[in-house]
Amino acid sequence: MKRIALVTGANKGIGFAVAQGLGELGHTVLLGARDVGRGEQARNALRDTGVDDVHLVAIDVADDASVADAAHRIDLEFGRLDTLVNNAGVKLEFHPAPPSQASMEEVRATYATNVFGTMSVTLAMLPLLRRSEAGRIVNLSSGLGSLGLAADTSTVYATKCMLGYNTSKTAINAVTLQFANELRAGPIKVNAADPGYTNTDMTHRDGARTASQAARVAIRLATLPDDGPTGAFFDNAGPLPW
Ligand code: NAP
Repeated sequence: MKRIALVTGANKGIGFAVAQGLGELGHTVLLGARDVGRGEQARNALRDTGVDDVHLVAIDVADDASVADAAHRIDLEFGRLDTLVNNAGVKLEFHPAPPSQASMEEVRATYATNVFGTMSVTLAMLPLLRRSEAGRIVNLSSGLGSLGLAADTSTVYATKCMLGYNTSKTAINAVTLQFANELRAGPIKVNAADPGYTNTDMTHRDGARTASQAARVAIRLATLPDDGPTGAFFDNAGPLPW
């Protein structure tokens, strides 16, 4: 049976590349975008690459009503979900800065999308994922959210501080573990992915890695076999410390 995959924030960047990769693997792609115009453009761009089975889903992850509406429409049209890639995210701090200089406005706005958005989408889509024979949830995290890496003060993970962004990804790691532990006895696997520093709008096109290269880890976790891991954190090279 063809798998049905929702990727949030898929109108550009890593999310678009994940949607493309899953489409190329034969999944029905639900391309999540908060702006319908940008979403339609992305859907057309995806079709131009040869991925035909792609459907636009309007979803603003920071808006509970939009999330509920998206889940309702997926239920009506598809009846289930096999894969959820929680990719939508923001990095509102322009530059790293000591935490003592953080703006609470930026921190709260970051959490609204990265943390509460991911929780909200996961809760809304879980009933649909429970209807899958092999549900997969992939949360886009970051090495910058790893406490294990940040505890080593000689590393960039300790020095590249963004109070909102980094801690929002630490929270995503905790969210990943909580859902993985609850769902461990069943067929749904929940893992976190660090795509690495990537050449997207989020990094102001500063990263060396392409979005397609960055998408690989999320695509791998979205297509894990039944005996694959759950409750783990990976980058392209392998497991990362929480
Ligand atoms: P990006 O190019 O800035 O794309 C972010 C995507 O998220 C866009 O489609 C954006 O939509 C969407 N989005 C933002 N807020 C949203 C909301 N409230 N509801 C729905 N969609 C929303 O970023 P990226 O580099 O591809 O990053 C994708 C994910 O990877 C993020 O979770 C990011 O934290 C993570 N990550 C990225 C890097 C990196 O180096 N780039 C490294 C580690 C982790 P609009 O176009 O409408 O703004």
